Amino acid sequence: ATPAATMVGTTIGAQNGVLFKGGDILERARNVDTVVFDKTGTLTEGEMELTDVVGFNADGQPVTDGGDTAADGGQVTTRDRLSEEDVLRLAATAESGSEHPLARAIIEGAEERGIDVTDPDDFENVPGHGIRATVSESEVLVGNRKLLRDSGIDPSPAEETMERLENEGKTAMLVAYEGDLVGVVADADTVKESATEAVIALQERGVDVMMITGDNERTARAVAEQVGIDPENVRAEVLPEDKSDAIEAIQSEARQAMMVGDGVNDAPALAVAHVGCAIGSGTDVAIEAADVTLMRDDPYDVVKAIRISDATLEKIK
Ligand code: ADP
Ligand code: MG
Repeated sequence: ATPAATMVGTTIGAQNGVLFKGGDILERARNVDTVVFDKTGTLTEGEMELTDVVGFNADGQPVTDGGDTAADGGQVTTRDRLSEEDVLRLAATAESGSEHPLARAIIEGAEERGIDVTDPDDFENVPGHGIRATVSESEVLVGNRKLLRDSGIDPSPAEETMERLENEGKTAMLVAYEGDLVGVVADADTVKESATEAVIALQERGVDVMMITGDNERTARAVAEQVGIDPENVRAEVLPEDKSDAIEAIQSEARQAMMVGDGVNDAPALAVAHVGCAIGSGTDVAIEAADVTLMRDDPYDVVKAIRISDATLEKIK
């Protein structure tokens, strides 16, 4: 594009809250044939809320059949039958060492339910899988199936409960205490209002729309369905360090991918993508790695970015 056209494009972008880092990006955006959205914080608000707490007894049977989080009073506190309140207290205390949105929701949910949340004695992040903490000299795990399996704890008694919650698009997490599976907690997020509209507009343009997430397959597919992304185009359970490999794999099929993300985890993927697009309220690391920043946190602005690129290039013909 001519310098004048580039300047017009950059200005129109800025007026629409779409910040292009350079003229070459304005030219590149129109060639994008695949848009890969991160799930949490990009397609969804990223504001998790605790929705469910389920306690299990020694036989791995749910203490109640779940649903709402009405704690049962906490009168039963033996090792083999933790109440929902005990499960939530343990999970929230263990998560106090974490800044993860999933953790913040568990802690806030516990506090709202009148539970006193203290700090764990010891805490360790297991990226992409959960956390491991020491609470009152006992080990507490909160996280996904692999986290428990890696510690020799069988998550399968919770499978039915996990699948029910995941099919609702929730992120369900297992809670283990002193080597036993004791419960499940779940957080839910809401899909951004314009996410579906953005996906449809991109698909109408002939762009393949994909989703990438560290979250589990079932939750990811439930969210994909809500926004109109083909379940085949979902890449779930992708570890933070593997997101950029996933983008490279897509691009090795001669595709020109735009990655749209907000997290620290997304930064390497934003950097390797043909066009990296950061959500403005996202982390600084993501914004620095990206080529475009969407100041309004609106997924539909991805469509605008591509249209501005079209218009800029048309001016030079
Ligand atoms: P995302 O891509 O959605 O940000 P992450 O890679 O951070 O996902 O986490 C992947 C999965 O690991 C989560 O869906 C959850 O099951 C588990 N996990 C990560 N952090 C935590 C945590 N602090 N507490 C419980 N589970 C966690
Ligand atoms: Mg995210």
